[in-house]
Amino acid sequence: MKNIAVLGSTGSVGKQTMEVLSENKEHFRVTALAANRQVDVLLEQIEKFAPEVVAVYDKESAEILQSRVKGATRIVCGMEGLCKVAAYQKNDLVVCAIAGSVGLLPVWSAVSEGKDIALANKEAMVAAGEIVNAMAAEKGARIIPVDSEHNAIFQCLYGNKKNDVYNIWLTASGGPFFGRTKEQMQGITKQEALKHPNWAMGQKISIDSATLMNKGLEVIEAVMLFGVRPEQVQVVVHPQSIVHSMVEYKDGSMIAQLGVADMRLPIHVALFYPERQPTSMERLNLFDRNLTFYRPDTEAFPLLALAYEAVKKGGSYPLVLNAANEVAVGVFLQDKIKFLDIADIVAAIFHSTPQAKCATIEEVVFFDEEVKRKTEEYILRHYE
Ligand code: MG
Repeated sequence: MKNIAVLGSTGSVGKQTMEVLSENKEHFRVTALAANRQVDVLLEQIEKFAPEVVAVYDKESAEILQSRVKGATRIVCGMEGLCKVAAYQKNDLVVCAIAGSVGLLPVWSAVSEGKDIALANKEAMVAAGEIVNAMAAEKGARIIPVDSEHNAIFQCLYGNKKNDVYNIWLTASGGPFFGRTKEQMQGITKQEALKHPNWAMGQKISIDSATLMNKGLEVIEAVMLFGVRPEQVQVVVHPQSIVHSMVEYKDGSMIAQLGVADMRLPIHVALFYPERQPTSMERLNLFDRNLTFYRPDTEAFPLLALAYEAVKKGGSYPLVLNAANEVAVGVFLQDKIKFLDIADIVAAIFHSTPQAKCATIEEVVFFDEEVKRKTEEYILRHYE
């Protein structure tokens, strides 16, 4: 039995994790859960899995949950509660599926306690990759990527030497607007941008897929997770989302991981790692399917190019890119700016923010908040 904590259990990846856990009850025990404020979903999960401790980020929602919960589950709240759940002593593996930089401190506390983590949160690697890696190495915590591409790469690296890696090929579906020019993306609405062709995902990441920022963040994540140089990460548009990524070795061999476009597969792989277990999931059928690959258009999707610039510059640049983007996407989702404004805003903040020293997680969180404030002010000044 592996004891599992799920941070962000009411979000998209979190719910799918709970599904996989529920199908594999003989292998896993849910020790702890954490979520923002969805009390009803949490109550159902508590009834079904009887975790020992549950953290609710929003204090009011925590009180409501406390008044409605039956049984022995302990309720904690706030950021302190999230961190407590992440570091809970009984956890063997912590699934970090909190979206956004709210996930930074919980990931940090899990790693600081030497807990293995199944990482679905991008921000931890993008904003704090170096210090999280250093802490994980010091405490012997393994970081198992859940993001479908990185999970694929992780699998393609099985049994091979890191020094033999020549390139990492990160596949991108291209999002809903692949093939369009900037001009053709002028009047895009929120509903159009939210409609991802292949994957069912949360709102923020759906918009990031539409701008290709998601792929940009994944380039940075790949550099941090696998210790390669930015030039070694190649993005290739693969609209069918069947090949989830590839590793090219120095002898010219390319190893790919293929599968259905269902997040429950990488979640399943991460939960069971290093074992493999059967699933009841739909299996990939390759007959009569075409696999095509294209070069990404960084002119129409400038955020991808900006991500390369950020990771090459290193230090706090990836953090700035991510923080500005998080704010811009939030404002877009409130219908206050246009789709193409997102990239303009992120570029403006990126180019006007100098390198900052972020040697501790507290400095990372502080700087992240500062960049977000700056972005909010910038948007107020220029767009509202
Ligand atoms: Mg992905």
